[in-house]
Amino acid sequence: MIVREWCMYCGECAGVCPLNIIQVRELTLEFDEEKCNNCKICVKACPVNALEEEVV
Ligand code: SF4
Ligand code: SF4
Repeated sequence: MIVREWCMYCGECAGVCPLNIIQVRELTLEFDEEKCNNCKICVKACPVNALEEEVV
């Protein structure tokens, strides 16, 4: 997951992830990418559109 620089670390995305794999730390977001199922709920939940799915 790509986190854009305008992320304000509000924790909204972490709160909606059904797998609970997003951790908000001080000025970083950690994703357990191995477990992510790409449901994009976090992407849609971000109020400032700061998340973008990495295309591999
Ligand atoms: S919801 Fe958006 S602004 Fe809030 S912590 Fe997640 S990525 Fe950052
Ligand atoms: S895409 Fe879905 S599973 Fe992956 S971090 Fe976002 S909400 Fe969680």
